Amino acid sequence: MTEKNIGIMGGTFDPPHMGHLVMAEYVREALSLDEIWFIPVGKIPHKDSSHTASAKDRLAMVRLAVADNPYFTVNSIEADVPEYSYTCETLEKLKQQFPEYCFTFIVGADSLDYMERWKEPERIFRACTVAAVHRMGYSNEETGRKKAELEKRYHAVISIISVPCIQISSTEIRERISVGLSVRYLVPETVLQYMDRHLLYRKNFTEIKR
Ligand code: ATP
Ligand code: MG
Repeated sequence: MTEKNIGIMGGTFDPPHMGHLVMAEYVREALSLDEIWFIPVGKIPHKDSSHTASAKDRLAMVRLAVADNPYFTVNSIEADVPEYSYTCETLEKLKQQFPEYCFTFIVGADSLDYMERWKEPERIFRACTVAAVHRMGYSNEETGRKKAELEKRYHAVISIISVPCIQISSTEIRERISVGLSVRYLVPETVLQYMDRHLLYRKNFTEIKR
């Protein structure tokens, strides 16, 4: 097996949107990564009660979203199992499966802020380096401070990558669809068609005006 630098985009992707794709593409380019693997979470924690699409639908939408980028692929290691997955375990499994690959976990500033509360963060930072991108609502200073803190506490290796700030979230997309508003241009057209066909995120059979 040849050495490769792999970016990991973990997320619920409920649904995947242009913000995810732009950040992955910019990080790939900035760090000269060979591939980006999108890994949709399987079972979503109960506390995130606004999520409604099944793992199967989210996986299918991510496949559609990345289909036209030769550097992007989907890995279903988390979506294929019915139990909760933990990032530290997923990364360790990937390292075991692909011992010659170097993994960079790509996160938005909101996730960087939260990562320490994930299961056994020291195992995560041992298994991979991290690329963090800015996200609306998080100042550069805050993100820089968090980076320094995690580097000191866990010997984490974190780079902050500049990407165009895109104020899109899956939450907003779910909310807009639920009240019949358009999400055209927020997600790839293929994802839009999938959501339409499978009546995802609609409440009371809302009709989407297109
Ligand atoms: P939700 O609103 O349901 O939480 P989300 O838009 O945050 O959805 P996730 O699937 O939770 O999407 O995000 C996966 C990863 O992508 C996380 O690390 C998150 O920080 C990052 N991310 C998502 N959208 C953006 C964005 N617009 N800008 C920067 N980072 C983003
Ligand atoms: Mg999120």
